[in-house]
Amino acid sequence: MEPIHYRDTRGLDPMPRTFTDTVLQGIAPGGGLYVPERLPILALADILALSSLPYAARAAAIYRAFSVDVHPEQVEHLMEQAYGDAFDHPLVAPVVEVDADMHVLELWHGPTSAFKDMALQCMPLFFSEAVSMRLASGEPLDDYLVLVATSGDTGKAALEGFADREHVRIAVFYPADGVSDIQRLQMVTQTGENVAVFGVRGNFDDCQTAVKAAFADASFAEVLHGVHGLRLSSANSINWGRLLPQIVYYASAYADMVAGGGVVAGEPIDVCVPTGNFGNILAGYYAKMMGVPIDRLICASNENRVLADFLATGAYDISSRDFVTTPSPSMDILVSSNLERLLFELTHDPEAVRRWQTSLAENGRFLVDRATFAAMREHFAGDWVSNDEALDTVRRVWQDHGYLLDPHTAVAWEVAERMRADNPVLVVSTAHWAKFGTDVYKALAGLDYDAPLPASAASLSGVALLHAVEGLAPGAAPVPGSLAELEELPERFSAVVGSRRDEIEDAVEGWLRDA
Ligand SMILES: *Cc1c(COP(=O)(O)O)cnc(C)c1O
Repeated sequence: MEPIHYRDTRGLDPMPRTFTDTVLQGIAPGGGLYVPERLPILALADILALSSLPYAARAAAIYRAFSVDVHPEQVEHLMEQAYGDAFDHPLVAPVVEVDADMHVLELWHGPTSAFKDMALQCMPLFFSEAVSMRLASGEPLDDYLVLVATSGDTGKAALEGFADREHVRIAVFYPADGVSDIQRLQMVTQTGENVAVFGVRGNFDDCQTAVKAAFADASFAEVLHGVHGLRLSSANSINWGRLLPQIVYYASAYADMVAGGGVVAGEPIDVCVPTGNFGNILAGYYAKMMGVPIDRLICASNENRVLADFLATGAYDISSRDFVTTPSPSMDILVSSNLERLLFELTHDPEAVRRWQTSLAENGRFLVDRATFAAMREHFAGDWVSNDEALDTVRRVWQDHGYLLDPHTAVAWEVAERMRADNPVLVVSTAHWAKFGTDVYKALAGLDYDAPLPASAASLSGVALLHAVEGLAPGAAPVPGSLAELEELPERFSAVVGSRRDEIEDAVEGWLRDA
C-alpha cells in the first residue's frame, strides 16, 4: 500500500513528510503541525476483530493501516515493548461499565499512572528507531536532546519513555512551586543514564517561557551541535508521533464494548473527553473519520473553559481570560495547540489556519466562519464544570457506584451525564486517582476545593495521604506500587535553577559536560 504522507497545517513546508520525519521534526518550519494527507478507512469487521488481539497487536494494526515507514515486523516488536509489562493491566486500556450505558476507558495503567503513558511509552521507541534508520542508511546525523517544560504529568511520562533509549537524551524542567509532592518525587527519583531533571524557581508559565526561549536561541543550538553533537527536539503533544498511538485506543475501546455487549456492532457511541491541549479528543475525531462508529465527541473543560466556549460560539478568545488553578491541572491550558489540526481538517485551507493563528497571536482571539462552525458542531459538543462541581462528582460517583474518579475524569463524567442522549457513552479516564490524592481526599471528605485540608490530613506525607484516601474509599483501585514506593527511592536530582534563559541553558550544558 502507498504510505501516507504528511503536510503541515499552515502550508509552509513544501515537502511531503513520512511518519518518521514527523516524529523527529515535531513541529513544521513556520510553526504548523503535521497532518496526514489522507486517512485509512477501517472496515467494521476489522475494528471488531481487534477485540481478540492483545493491545500491542491492536496498535500494530492501526500503524499498519497508516503504512508507517518502519518495517511491519519492527512495528510489532516495538509495540510489544511499549505495551507490555510496563502496564499493570493485561488489557492495557480496559473499558469498565460503571453505570448503565456509562462506560469508562481507563488510560492510566501505565508506569506513571496518567494517560500520557499511552503515547509516551510508544513514541520514544519510534523516535530511536527513526534515528537508527537514518544512521543505517548512511545519513550523517546528530543524536537528539529532548527539552521538556512540564506542569507535572508530561515530564514524568516523557522521562519514563525516553530513559535509556538510544540516540536521545532528555532534560525536564518543572516549576518548583507548581507541582504536587507526588509529582516532584516521581520526577526526581527517575532512573536512567540519559536523563536530567531541574526545578525552576517560579510557576509553570515562567518555566515554559524560559524553555521556549532556549529552544529559539541559535547560539545555544550551535553549542549543542558543535560541542556535544546534539540536535534539539521536543516531546510535547503537537508531535504526530504522540497523536497516532491515541487513535488506537478509540478503535480498541469500541471493539471491547461490542464484545462485552455494551453496544450493538455498528451502532454509534458518544465519547466524552477531559480536554486540555485537544490532543486526546482530536485522536477520537480521527478514529471517527477512519470508521469507528462514534457519534458525538463531547469536549469537557474545567474552569479554564476556552474550548467549551469556542464550541458554543465559534469565537476562540483568550484576550481577557484569566488563567485559573483547578483540581485538574493537566487541563489548565488557554492556548490549545492541537485545535489547529482540527481547524485544518474542517477547512483544508492552510491560508485560513494561518490567518486564525496570526489573529490569536496578535489579538488573543479569532472567529471562525459560519461553514467551519457548522462543520465543527456536526461532530463536537462541549460543556464545562466548576472546581467544586468536579470534587462533588468524585464523591457522588464513589457513593453511588463504588468507583473512584480522579478530578480530570470527574470533569468528563459530569459533562457526560448532563449531555446524555440515546447512545452509550464512553467516558475517557485520564489519570489514576492517586496522582491527585489531595483533591480526592477533599472530595471524599465533602470539602470545597478552596478549603484547607483538616490538620490530621495536612500533617501526612504525600504517600501517607494516599493511604488515608484508601481508608475513606475501601475497595477503590489501590495505590499503584510505583507511587507507594516513591518515598523510599533515592532522590537523584536536587538542582533548582532560575527562570532566565541563560540559567536554563547553563543547567543543560553543565549536565552535558559532567555526563
Ligand atoms: C494531559 C492530560 C489531559 C489533557 O489531555 P489533552 O490531550 O491535552 O487534551 C487530561 N487529563 C490528564 C490527567 C492529563 O495528563
